[in-house]
Amino acid sequence: MTLTSDAPRRLESYACGAWVAGTGKGQVLTDAATGDAVAVIDAGGLDTAAMLEHARSRGGRALRAMTYHQRAGLLKEFAKVLMDAKEEFYALSSATGATRTDGWIDIEGGIGTLFAYSSMGRRQLPNTRLLIDGEPEVLSKDGSFAGQHILSPLKGVAIHINAYNFPCWGMLEKLAPTWLAGMPAIVKPASQTAYLTELMVRRIIDSGLLPDGALQLVSGSIGSMLDHVTAQDVVTFTGSASTGRMLRSHPEIIANSVRFTMEADSLNASVLGPDAVPGTEEFDLFVREVVREMTVKSGQKCTAIRRVIVPEAVSEAVIKAIGEKLAKTTIGDPRAEGVRMGPLASLAQRDEVRARIRELRAEAELAFGTPEAVDPLAGDPDKGAFQAPVLLHCADPLNASIVHGVEAFGPVATVMPYRSTDEAIELAARGEGSLVASVFTNDGAFAREAVLGLAPWHGRVLIGNRTTAKSSTGHGSPLPQMIHGGPGRAGGGEEMGGLRGVHHFLQRTAVQGSPDMLTAVAGKWVRGSATCGGNTHPFRKSLAELEIGDTLVTGTRTVTLEDIEHFAEFTGDTFYAHMDEAAARANPFFEGRVAHGYYIVSIAAGLFVQPDPGPVLANYGVDALRFLTPVYPGDTLQVSLTCKEINPREGADYGEVRWDTTVTNQRSEVVAQYDVLTMVARSWPMAA
Ligand code: NDP
Repeated sequence: MTLTSDAPRRLESYACGAWVAGTGKGQVLTDAATGDAVAVIDAGGLDTAAMLEHARSRGGRALRAMTYHQRAGLLKEFAKVLMDAKEEFYALSSATGATRTDGWIDIEGGIGTLFAYSSMGRRQLPNTRLLIDGEPEVLSKDGSFAGQHILSPLKGVAIHINAYNFPCWGMLEKLAPTWLAGMPAIVKPASQTAYLTELMVRRIIDSGLLPDGALQLVSGSIGSMLDHVTAQDVVTFTGSASTGRMLRSHPEIIANSVRFTMEADSLNASVLGPDAVPGTEEFDLFVREVVREMTVKSGQKCTAIRRVIVPEAVSEAVIKAIGEKLAKTTIGDPRAEGVRMGPLASLAQRDEVRARIRELRAEAELAFGTPEAVDPLAGDPDKGAFQAPVLLHCADPLNASIVHGVEAFGPVATVMPYRSTDEAIELAARGEGSLVASVFTNDGAFAREAVLGLAPWHGRVLIGNRTTAKSSTGHGSPLPQMIHGGPGRAGGGEEMGGLRGVHHFLQRTAVQGSPDMLTAVAGKWVRGSATCGGNTHPFRKSLAELEIGDTLVTGTRTVTLEDIEHFAEFTGDTFYAHMDEAAARANPFFEGRVAHGYYIVSIAAGLFVQPDPGPVLANYGVDALRFLTPVYPGDTLQVSLTCKEINPREGADYGEVRWDTTVTNQRSEVVAQYDVLTMVARSWPMAA
């Protein structure tokens, strides 16, 4: 392709705080539908070692200085900036071959992931710089030696190598957990659609919200960047299995045990249950889902359904129903009115898909479609990468291998019959590990058997039935809250999955020492460590005054039979163990009538509460409540309440305080143990 006076834009990389053009001639990137030049890409001359160092020394330092809630707030700010600019992204997205619906998945799906991680960060993580993983472990008989796992952000940089099919979502779904964890990132989009990623990165940088070095972009080849990775860096990869394997075995990645998350192509299956015969809602849902998965993004989705596994008796009906729907798919330039499916990303990609179809046809016959031809209305087939949907049928899939191993990354799927549940599972497993499988059934027993069989081979399993017909996000949609990744051929990685995705960028460390040392290190009170307090009731202290370890030891209260009966009648809880002496004695756990657990919790509150208006604004629950010793009439109870964790909320004049609560009897036996959760004012009296 020769460049005219209307020369396309030269993409730039964002390196070490500046936009830089490549020094090479560059590669022309073309519009998937028209073949027009869209941009020129080249990263020649980039100093990739300097980029890594810039990220580590500037970006990482700045991000780690922020708390989890501050970083979560940042994600939300970016999401808003990008949402405001979304029409710009949609306009450019058509050049990749994406329809408005395809663009929505990529653009707003990606921005939604930022919002989701922001919300998870603020709701599920403390407003600290250090995360605590799990409860402390007592490691000695006398309790003087204990352990606590902590999580801290790695001090390197996350290098994200992305695929061409989701230039926005592919970047954002990785950036969200990376930034929330406190790591800087270098994004390397796939060249073919990098112009859209570049535009989005420009809008992020233009916002001025991001600390210097937190985000850099390589528009073009990453060159020798991987030669400079260190043990604190992380590499994530999405793309073909062959490139992934090659990068994963890079000598520096192996030598430094660099974390490498790989998400590669897979031959995802959808299984139709035996109950879902033609005429049922599940049959219709299944057919709709297969067609949607074949045509959305023109089938260029790592999660798309490639293998359609159906009961032998209905395979003909399935092929007919899918074919009828596919026949209604209008293919063309995604900018044109009424077009449901755009072209593939490039002519090269179309040739690739056609070559794969030829391979698949060695084992599968053509059931619908014209592999080498194109709807004449679609556009110029020499310029636009149009590919009509193709449905294949493999009659003997148990004795086939190509249909389970060759992925045509386009609007192509193969129907395969099964005769038993075991056979359906066996066929799905022949994919050697996939990102997702779906099961369409309204039969719980079949769903259970199928899911248990499929689970070891899949990162995600979706069950479709009439109940979720309207609410389900569908087979092909990875969600921020759920794991995206899969075993074996799918790469063996896991992305997102809520906070699990954040953990890829954190180092887990087991810290061992005395309870006092663990409290000092983790900033969370560990049982057995020192307490403090003085004469002021801790409920009279604002966040500014409270200290970890502030403790109240209450007065006592003796439990009477009248109390128990009163509580039983008042609440209506007349369970025999509280009311019937003989029946209670017959119970293996009790020696007679016992107090209600909730009575114990209630009188404990009566013992520790300071009733006047004060900095404690509300009690919003208890965690980990356990009743450990029965309480009998005549027992005398006492409470010890210790400030365990203080969590000021970002931008609010209050925060959460967690109180370790232990109720003991007159023999110092622990009767009940739990955490009381309260909202406490930052200062008292509160500002108007
Ligand atoms: P590739 O594996 O070739 O490319 C994926 C990413 O890796 C791109 O960013 C690419 O950059 C980069 N890359 C390629 N070679 C190197 C290298 N030597 N060093 C560093 N980075 C490198 O996949 P394609 O995008 O070409 O797609 C090919 C096939 O992969 C598809 O047909 C499909 O089967 C599968 N695929 C799977 C996806 C998934 O989500 N699981 C998504 C997309 C594709 P550049 O573009 O600049 O070469």
